[in-house]
Amino acid sequence: MIELNAINSEEKIRIKKPEWLKVKLPTGENYLKVRKLVDQYKLHTICESGNCPNMGECWGAGTATFMILGNVCTRSCSFCAVATGKPTEYDLDEPKRVAEAIKLMGVKHAVITSVNRDELKDKGVKVWADTIREVKKMNPETTIETLIPDFLGKWELLYQVLDEKPEIVSHNMETVKRLYKRVRPQAKYERSLEQIQRTAEYGLHTKSGIMLGLGETDDEIYEAMDDLLAHKCEVLTLGQYLQPTKMHIALEKFIHPSKFELWREAGLNKGFRYVESGALVRSSYHAEKHIF
Ligand code: SF4
Repeated sequence: MIELNAINSEEKIRIKKPEWLKVKLPTGENYLKVRKLVDQYKLHTICESGNCPNMGECWGAGTATFMILGNVCTRSCSFCAVATGKPTEYDLDEPKRVAEAIKLMGVKHAVITSVNRDELKDKGVKVWADTIREVKKMNPETTIETLIPDFLGKWELLYQVLDEKPEIVSHNMETVKRLYKRVRPQAKYERSLEQIQRTAEYGLHTKSGIMLGLGETDDEIYEAMDDLLAHKCEVLTLGQYLQPTKMHIALEKFIHPSKFELWREAGLNKGFRYVESGALVRSSYHAEKHIF
């Protein structure tokens, strides 16, 4: 059954957005090409499932972030537009289709994410590993960023993904420590930090992201930055939380672009190697700049 997070257009909230959050609707030749490939190869993207405001820009530039293992998530994070429920999709051919679509799109840096599949014994890791392998095989020049779940802290599963050596491994903290129970009830702040540290110690590049506007204080953002750095996170993304529907956790505040710039400088001064900070920033936004 699909619950809470499923988007129902009638439920979409109508909060007046500030000017800096207004974007162009997706259109144009590249957009249509991506649209056709996604449909033809029966793929999902977080761009669509997550209601991302950047589709006009990213798809217009011929890129997208594929979401593997279906479009129904076993978790019920209160911020997320992806549908929550009991997933039915499990497709061992999906890795090949993702790889082919990336080839046809001519993507130089591919970002791949997934829903959580906590009900599966391997949490979806076989499909994850196969996808990275197929993309590399079919696109030897393409670099890969994997935005992965926490696999419930089963580290032997994490290492099966890391063994495929994606160029950068992202795992989003999403919010500050105090808000975890409300924002990511099935996740754990310390577990996500440990995952990032284990990834770094394995020898791969690390990245994480936090949404702002959920009521976090400045001190809590500094604390999250310090925790991430202490756990060897190299790249940080900071973006504005946008409430998908009135059923989702309430938006507390729009952060002004000048404040995002201050956070960018603060993150760099603290020691992140790269900080992407802005109202429209999402984990995969301008991801090609985050590789080493
Ligand atoms: S920022 Fe990421 S999720 Fe949003 S449209 Fe671009 S590629 Fe898709």
